[in-house]
Amino acid sequence: MTDPKQERTFIAVKPDGVQRGLIGEIIKRFEARGYKMVAGKLIWAPKDLLKNHYKDLADKPFYNGLVEYMSSGPVFAMVWEGKEVVKMGRQMLGATNPLASMPGTIRGDFGIDVGRNICHGSDAVETARREIALWFKEEELSDYEFANKSWIY
Ligand code: ADP
Ligand code: MG
Repeated sequence: MTDPKQERTFIAVKPDGVQRGLIGEIIKRFEARGYKMVAGKLIWAPKDLLKNHYKDLADKPFYNGLVEYMSSGPVFAMVWEGKEVVKMGRQMLGATNPLASMPGTIRGDFGIDVGRNICHGSDAVETARREIALWFKEEELSDYEFANKSWIY
């Protein structure tokens, strides 16, 4: 992926976000910004997938609770593509703790507790690559162009 416009990130609406009816709201924000969804599915993730997804946090005191929370219901998993989408996706989500998130961000507009922070977004291009491969099969990713990208790029 040399073309920065082709950068991809993994975004997920967590079980609390799904329960609260925020899937559409989160999709809407990425669409409105000009990003392109290349994959999306509702999935009740098995624990081994979630443990792998969060393996870097395995020694944190909240790790077991995090896996329980993430497996408490389906998540809406997505891949979004576009210019600097990894960094901008993180900005659109807000800080990990919703109380530290600016109003205007997803967590800053909809959350108050770090253990129920609504959404996930990859923290780096390399992480995004790993997470996309973990959650999606290659054939689930749609490679297509917007009809007229000149209004965005
Ligand atoms: P982010 O999701 O913003 O990348 P981290 O990778 O540090 O944040 O943590 C992963 C997830 O673990 C967070 O989104 C949140 O759901 C949960 N988490 C992080 N810190 C805490 C905490 N102190 N207590 C409970 N859950 C936490
Ligand atoms: Mg993280």
